[in-house]
Amino acid sequence: MPTLMVSVSGIRGIVGDGLDPLSIVKYTSAYADFIGKGKIVIGRDARISGEMVKSIVTGTLTAKGLDVVDIGICPTPTVQYTVKNLNADGGIAISASHNPNEWNALKLLNRTGQFMTLEENKQMLSLLYQAEKNFCDWNSLGKYQEYKEGLKRHVDDVLNLKYINRELIQKRKFKVVADCVNGAGVYVIPTLLREFGCEVIEVNCDTSGIFPRLPEPLPENLTETMAAVKESNADLGIVVDPDVDRLVLITDEGEPFSEENTITQAVKFVLSKIKGNVVVNLSTTRAIDDVAASHGCKVYRSAVGEANVVQKMKEVNAIIGGEGSGGVIFPELHYGRDALVGIAITLQHLLEFGGKLSELKKTLPDYFISKKKVEVENDDPDQIIQSLAERYSHFSPNTEDGLKVDFEDHWVHFRKSNTEPIIRIITEAKTKEDADALSQKYYNEIIELNKN
Ligand code: MG
Repeated sequence: MPTLMVSVSGIRGIVGDGLDPLSIVKYTSAYADFIGKGKIVIGRDARISGEMVKSIVTGTLTAKGLDVVDIGICPTPTVQYTVKNLNADGGIAISASHNPNEWNALKLLNRTGQFMTLEENKQMLSLLYQAEKNFCDWNSLGKYQEYKEGLKRHVDDVLNLKYINRELIQKRKFKVVADCVNGAGVYVIPTLLREFGCEVIEVNCDTSGIFPRLPEPLPENLTETMAAVKESNADLGIVVDPDVDRLVLITDEGEPFSEENTITQAVKFVLSKIKGNVVVNLSTTRAIDDVAASHGCKVYRSAVGEANVVQKMKEVNAIIGGEGSGGVIFPELHYGRDALVGIAITLQHLLEFGGKLSELKKTLPDYFISKKKVEVENDDPDQIIQSLAERYSHFSPNTEDGLKVDFEDHWVHFRKSNTEPIIRIITEAKTKEDADALSQKYYNEIIELNKN
C-alpha cells in the first residue's frame, strides 16, 4: 500500500509509492496558500530523488505566485537559518532525514524558519481541498532565483558563535573522522571542521547522493566508522544524518559517546557559561536533569518532535534545548536542531575540558535507555495507554505525548505510532540490565492488558 505520512515533522513518503508528483503538488499548493505571498527558501539533501522533488516544488510555488530562493544541496538547519537570515516568508527543506534512499519528504517551515507548529499544520491542511485551484496567469507567476551564499553564511555564523573561540580551537588541531553518509553534510561538515583547524579524515563523504549504509546514526550502523576512529588515532568521530540535524559522536577509543550524550554535554557546556532554562523532549535522558540541577537550572519537557521542543523553548525562554537523538538547539543562532552548532559546542567543550572525549564521557551521569515495541493489532492503542495511565495515576504521570511515568530509579514512556498499530516503550535506568528488564516488564503488562 502506498504510504504518505503527514505529521508536524513534514510530508514523508516512498518516492513513486506515496510521494509522487501529484501528492507533491497537492501539499506544496496547500502550503503556498497557507503562506499567501512572498519569498520561500528551498534547499534539499543530497539524495537522488531530490532534484525531481525540488523541480516540482519550485514549479508549484511559482505557479501559486510565490518567489523561490533556491539554496541548493544543504542541511535542513541551513534552510531554517536562511529563512531567518533573508527575512523570507517560509521555507521547505526537501529531505527524509534519517530514512533510507527510497524515501523523501517536505519539511515545511514557517516565517521564522522554524518547523510549522501543530496549529499552523492544521491551518495548512484545512486548505488542501482547494490546493489544486487558483494557479496564477502567465504574467503573475513567482520568480525563481539561485542563492549560493546560504551555506557560507551559515558556516561563518557558526564559527563566530557566542562562547566559541575559533582561534583557540584551531591551535588545538583536533584530528577528526567525519562520516556524512554521502548526504548533505558532505557539502559543509569537512569545510567547517577545517575552518576550525581540524585534520579531517573523510568517511562516506562522496557526492553520489547514495547512502552506503543505513543512514540513521545508530551504533549498529557505524561499526566501520568506529573502527576508522580507533585505527587513525583520531581525537573523535563526528557522524551526521543525511540532512545534518542529528549529531552523533565517537570517542577516541572508537566507542559510541552515545547519542543521548550529544545534548547532555552541550547542555553542560552552555550552563557552565550562562544560567537559564533547558528544554528537552519527554524521551530524553535524565542526565539532563542531573546536569541542570548541578548548575541550579530548571528543565522543562515537551512532546517529541522539533516543533514541540522549539515551541516550549520559546514559552519558557530556554537558553539551550534539544532531543536525545543527537539534536542540539541553540537559539543564539536559530531555533532548529543543528549539527554544525553541535560540532562547534563539542570542540570548544572538549578544548576547555582538556582531556579526551572518552574521559569527558565519564564525567557525565550514567544512564541506559532501552526501547521495545508491542504490536496491538486488534486493540485501540489509545485505550491501552489510558488503562496504563489509570494504573500509574498515583505517580502523577505526564500525558502530553502518550504516557510518561517518572519513578525514583527509572522512567518509562509509552507512545503510540502514528503509522502502525504499535506502542513504543522507552525506559531508562542506571544500568543496561535494569533498563532492559524494565522494558520487558512493561511489554508484558501491555500483553496482559491486551488479553483482557
Ligand atoms: Mg535529520
